[in-house]
Amino acid sequence: MIISKPEITEEQDDVCLSATIRIERKGITLPDRLWFKIPKQHAGNIHAGADAFVVAMLPSAMNVGENILVEGSVSPKLAFGLDHYQHMQNLWWPELFSRVRISFSGYEARTASREKAVGVAFSGGVDSSYTLWKHLPENETTPGFAITHALVINGFDKDTDLNLEGSFRKLRQTYEPVLKSHGAEFVSLRTNIRSFREAIKMPGTGLEKSYGVALAAAVLALGGFYSRFYIPGSARLPRDAHHPEGTHLLLDSWLSSESVDFIHDGADVTRVEKTLAISAWPAMHQCLRVCIDKPAYSPSTGVVENCCRCEKCLRTMIVLEAMGEIGKFDTFPDPIDLNLIRKLIFKADSAYLFSQENLELAKRENRADLAAAIQHAIRCSDWKRSSVRKRISKRLRGRRRSIL
Ligand SMILES: [Zn+2]
Repeated sequence: MIISKPEITEEQDDVCLSATIRIERKGITLPDRLWFKIPKQHAGNIHAGADAFVVAMLPSAMNVGENILVEGSVSPKLAFGLDHYQHMQNLWWPELFSRVRISFSGYEARTASREKAVGVAFSGGVDSSYTLWKHLPENETTPGFAITHALVINGFDKDTDLNLEGSFRKLRQTYEPVLKSHGAEFVSLRTNIRSFREAIKMPGTGLEKSYGVALAAAVLALGGFYSRFYIPGSARLPRDAHHPEGTHLLLDSWLSSESVDFIHDGADVTRVEKTLAISAWPAMHQCLRVCIDKPAYSPSTGVVENCCRCEKCLRTMIVLEAMGEIGKFDTFPDPIDLNLIRKLIFKADSAYLFSQENLELAKRENRADLAAAIQHAIRCSDWKRSSVRKRISKRLRGRRRSIL
C-alpha cells in the first residue's frame, strides 16, 4: 500500500487535506483520494503531514497483509506507537490483522496549537454522551482535562451526509446549543474514510474491530488543534477483555502524537451504568441518539426520535425501562415491545456482552418479563453465533490457502 504525500487545497467553506491510497491487492477498487474537509476557521492548525492517513489505513493494510510506504512525514511518537497498535490488534485478532512494515519518508514532530483544545468524539449516543458529561467543565475539575470542543465526524457512521443535504445541519442545530449551555463548542469535519474502509471489508466482522482509527484519523487531520482527546470506550474492563472491539484502554493511546494525547474513557463502567448516568442529565432526554438508522426528528417538536425497534434502541430502552426512567426520554416515542426483544440476534460481540448486562439488570430489578425476553434472544443468538463462527473460520481457512 502506498500513501502519497498529502496535499492541502482550499474549497468554498473548507480546507481539504487529501492523499491518494494505492493498494496492490487485486479486486479492490478504492476512491481517487482519501480526504478530510475541515472548516476554514481551523485552517491554521492543519499541516500536510501523513499522520491521519497512515492511522486511517493501517488496519486495512494489516487485513490484506500489505506493507505501507508513506510518502510523507509522520510524528515520531505516532510512528513508535503504531508498532504497539499493530502488536495488540494482531494479538487479539490474528486471523484479521497481520503485522506489516511501515516506511516513512521522514519524521516531523509538531506540538499542539495555542488553543490546547480538549475534545471527545461525540455522536449523541450512550458512550459519547457519558464521556462528554463526565468531562464537561462543570464535572471535570483537573486542570487541562475538561472538554472544550466536542468533535462530530460526518463520514464516520451511517449518518454520513457528505453532500450536506441537511441531516448534518440538523444534527448541529440539535447539539450545538446543548454543548454551548455547558461551556463547550461543537466542531465537525467531513471525511470519506468510510468508503475506503468499506472497500477493504474484513470478512465476517464489518469494521468494528478497528473503528477507533477513524476517530483518531479525523483528530490527527485537524493538526495541532486538540491537545487531548477522549475516545469513548464501549465496554467495561475486564469484561470486554476477550472481546476488544475497535477502541480499548490498551490500544487508543498508541495513536497519540506529540500534539495530541488520546485518552480511552469509560472502561470503568458498564453500559447500564452509563445509561443511568445519562438519564440524570435532562438535556439528553430530548437528544439521546442511539439508533442505527439515520437520525430522525419529531416534525412538531424537533426532538431526536429513535426507531425503538433496532438492537441499539432496544438495548438502551431495556435499561431505562427496568429502572423506571424511560418516561423521561422523549427520544423514545414508542413503548418497549417485548416481542421485538425476543426476536433480537446479537451478532456483534459487544451487543452480546450488553445483552448479558441487561439480563443481570432485569433479574436484579425483578423484571421477569424483560428477563425472559432477553434470555430467549440470547439463546437464539448462541445458536446463530456458533454456526456463523464455523462458517467464518471455514472462509478464513480458504482465504489463507489462496494467499499461500
Ligand atoms: Zn433504532
